[in-house]
Amino acid sequence: MAYKSIKSVLSGAEAGSELTVKGWVRTKRESKNAIFVALNDGSTINNLQAVAEAGQLPDDTLRLITTGACLAVTGTLVESQGSGQAVELKIGEVHIYGPADPEKYPLQPKRHSLEFLREIAHLRPRTNTFSAILRVRHALAFAVHKYYNDNGFFYLNTPIITASDAEGAGEMFRVSTLDPLNPPKTEDGKIDYSQDFFGRETNLTVSGQLEGELGALALGKIYTFGPTFRAENSNTTRHLAEFWMIEPEMAFYELEDNMALAEDFVKSVIRYALDHCADDLAFLENRLIEEEKTKKKEEQSELTLLEKLRFVVDNDFERLTYTEAVEILRNSKPAKKGQFQYEVGWGIDLQSEHERYLVEKHFKKPVILTNYPRAIKSFYMKQDNEPATNSRGEVFGPTVRAMDVLFPGIGEIIGGSQREDDLDKLTTRMAEVGIDPEAIWWYLDTRRFGTAPHAGFGLGFERLVLFVTGMGNIRDVIPFPRAPKQAEF
Ligand code: ATP
Ligand code: MN
Repeated sequence: MAYKSIKSVLSGAEAGSELTVKGWVRTKRESKNAIFVALNDGSTINNLQAVAEAGQLPDDTLRLITTGACLAVTGTLVESQGSGQAVELKIGEVHIYGPADPEKYPLQPKRHSLEFLREIAHLRPRTNTFSAILRVRHALAFAVHKYYNDNGFFYLNTPIITASDAEGAGEMFRVSTLDPLNPPKTEDGKIDYSQDFFGRETNLTVSGQLEGELGALALGKIYTFGPTFRAENSNTTRHLAEFWMIEPEMAFYELEDNMALAEDFVKSVIRYALDHCADDLAFLENRLIEEEKTKKKEEQSELTLLEKLRFVVDNDFERLTYTEAVEILRNSKPAKKGQFQYEVGWGIDLQSEHERYLVEKHFKKPVILTNYPRAIKSFYMKQDNEPATNSRGEVFGPTVRAMDVLFPGIGEIIGGSQREDDLDKLTTRMAEVGIDPEAIWWYLDTRRFGTAPHAGFGLGFERLVLFVTGMGNIRDVIPFPRAPKQAEF
């Protein structure tokens, strides 16, 4: 049977036309003369109101039309008598696909807490909030592919199962088919991974970057967009154990080009959401306004969601070095009053309290920090030749050509760098941090044969979705969150 999406009906079907829609009941309301059913099919945040006259529908049917039930409704589209909608569907015929026992259906037409909805993650896409988030998430994913396609990048699929233990060894999920109760052992009593499926120890990827570099040094400009796994036991509102990362990697790009790309890219995809998700963003904006009212005055945001998104799109990101940032932080009020939990000094890994101070209090806009201390960054980042100096002429170093993009409410949204393209410098650094060159001989081959300056970065997709939807917890912007002790659905 042909049917129309509610989105298409609301955005243009003519009054007087006969049509069928299919969807789930959000609410049913009965008055003396009529029954009103708000139907939603997920195509839009907006419901279609279907109306029957009192007594028109058999009691058996009427009883089954409750919140959550799935229906097909055929009828005539008419101009609405009531306020709140331009058109409504005058019910001719109702078919019930699946009733939803109101005694047992967990979603009721009232406001549920996000914590409760996380416990019923299998049903939460049927709520306004989560359907809006998922549609915005889709639009952003589409915008990512569109942006790179329009700009001459190739989508490269890097492996999900990797053997490279060069990065984040402690944070990796092992992939193995060995019997955990009785694994084969080597002579010295260790597990013998040579007998494992791949004949070596393998893990789920923490980043596609190393393979991405191989792609860039052949295709010029590539990007990855895939699942990424980190077994970090941090129960924060910004970390997932399984998340999606977008990693562009570009030959012949230096740090400045990398920054320009990151800024243009993020602005472009946010603009796409503003242009294509107006209804969902308006809904999420109102949700946030209600949520803000429950906060203390000084914690309330000065900007609404849409104002915040437009602000990011319309303003230049602030760019400064790590060394300059440390100076600002050391001279800041919270530092002087001892309000930071972690003390600031050159060489520390900035904590999110520091990043958020810079973005939310000091600059009040997105910030790109560059030229971090070499000791706190990865081995593959390009080494700076000159030491860093601050405004008082103090000298620090060594530094690398790293960049982090920091966003209000989020902290780090992007981490990237220019890559070390000099084989000697790279291998010397690897030796210093204890990485076996044999383990990534294939990576080093790019520096042996036709090396070139290149750069790239990683954007955590869920952190972007967090920002655009104005949600507060990263577990609410992915359909099925994976976090410590959380893998039910
Ligand atoms: P953080 O310091 O916030 O833990 P990171 O420096 O470990 O992040 P990178 O290795 O630079 O992260 O990864 C690139 C991007 O991936 C980050 O900027 C962030 O947007 C995202 N990201 C990193 N870890 C996670 C995670 N556990 N869950 C969701 N997104 C993440
Ligand atoms: Mn980072």
